[in-house]
Amino acid sequence: MKIYNIHTNLTLSREYVLRKNEQNCSLFHIPSSVRYKITNELYVLLDFFKYNLISINEFTEVLKKQNILIDAGTLCDKLNIIDVPSVLVNDIKPYRVNKPADDFRETVFPERIDWLITEKCNLICKHCLQGSSCTKVNKDFNIQRLNELFYEMEKMDIETLKITGGEPLLAKNAKEIFKLLSNRLFDKTILTNLMLLDDEWLEIFKNKTFHLSTSIDGCSKLSHDYIRGRGSFEILIEKLKKLKQNDIPFASTVTLHPLNVDELNKIPEFVFNNLGSKKILFNYLRPIGRARKNDKLHLSQEKLKKVKCTLREIKEEYKEKVIIDDEADLSDSADKHSYTPKTKLKCAAGRTLMSLDENLNVFPCNYGIGNKLFLIDSAQTHSLSNIWLSEKWSLFRDGVPLYKIKDCKTCDFISKCTLKQCRLKPFADGVGFYSHVDYCYRANLINAL
Ligand code: SF4
Ligand code: SF4
Repeated sequence: MKIYNIHTNLTLSREYVLRKNEQNCSLFHIPSSVRYKITNELYVLLDFFKYNLISINEFTEVLKKQNILIDAGTLCDKLNIIDVPSVLVNDIKPYRVNKPADDFRETVFPERIDWLITEKCNLICKHCLQGSSCTKVNKDFNIQRLNELFYEMEKMDIETLKITGGEPLLAKNAKEIFKLLSNRLFDKTILTNLMLLDDEWLEIFKNKTFHLSTSIDGCSKLSHDYIRGRGSFEILIEKLKKLKQNDIPFASTVTLHPLNVDELNKIPEFVFNNLGSKKILFNYLRPIGRARKNDKLHLSQEKLKKVKCTLREIKEEYKEKVIIDDEADLSDSADKHSYTPKTKLKCAAGRTLMSLDENLNVFPCNYGIGNKLFLIDSAQTHSLSNIWLSEKWSLFRDGVPLYKIKDCKTCDFISKCTLKQCRLKPFADGVGFYSHVDYCYRANLINAL
């Protein structure tokens, strides 16, 4: 199908984030959250259109002045067959007007920034990682500073700003902040319990520049309210109907616990067909935060096995509409050929991810928040791009050699384990930076003996 011709003025579509990463080049489609890997050649071409509103014909004339001879018709034919939907569009202005300095453009900034906007919450869920509640105090924001940071995030070409809490809709000046964010050219994903959704929030979310993700911890009052408190299921269903009536898409997160695993088979149909959710993320409940103090919330090994089987069947049926946390599960076969004591374990923290707390302090990821040892700097007073260049990230960026990590270094499951690289969950959990998470596969096996 022909989309482009050589005469129409084109620029990069504002639905995309174009990035040059360490290993590859990519285009992130904001509405669908799909990331396309692209060639360096295509990156260079799209990068030109990012800062210009120009026809393919004029573009080839620009190239001609640099002694690069490309026929406009041939280039147009090539663009018509690339496998990325409507990446160039006719607009009234270029995607971006001001081109940052070369050293800024050459820096690979994080793909995602997580922002724990408030620790305050209107619910007191039994499993809350942050231990949030209504007794926590909301922090004041300097709106002008926030606006500068959002602008900078856009300039850094981040793909996603993920806003968590507490309850994000309860943060001080939340509506004003979300309105400021609405036209920023990156994905804004909000993890919300939706209880505070009102007409003004519906107006904010109607322009569909936010991805809403809400927790549904069962398809009955009994199971959902068990985790989130009496009456919360009914309110949630009423709010989700409002989203549906207003054609506002949302995704659901289901955390597995003893009362919802018996209705696991019914959850997808309920969430997709009755409520209109676009996706479900099934989460295993981890003994971190308030869930650590709540033994009754955790599934027995036997139940966990059955749950994993059922989840595989659900995944088979609903394919990409269903995401299962820790999908790359361990198999029982040992295979550690690719690991030596010197192998360095690295994770997203400080490499593709940075995290902000409610005071705009920067940490490697949310699990480091609140601990001075992992505080990188303050975004109240310093730019995010300068903070990203700090030496303080080296502990995470360089990786930790396997020989330093207790138990993992001798573990038979090392090559198949998806938990081993995490340094901050064990730390947050009180077992130490050079330890493994205490719910890992090997630890469970040993405990079961
Ligand atoms: S986290 Fe646990 S299962 Fe994974 S490699 Fe370390 S000890 Fe083994
Ligand atoms: S693996 Fe652990 S330390 Fe790394 S980003 Fe994830 S939670 Fe944070």
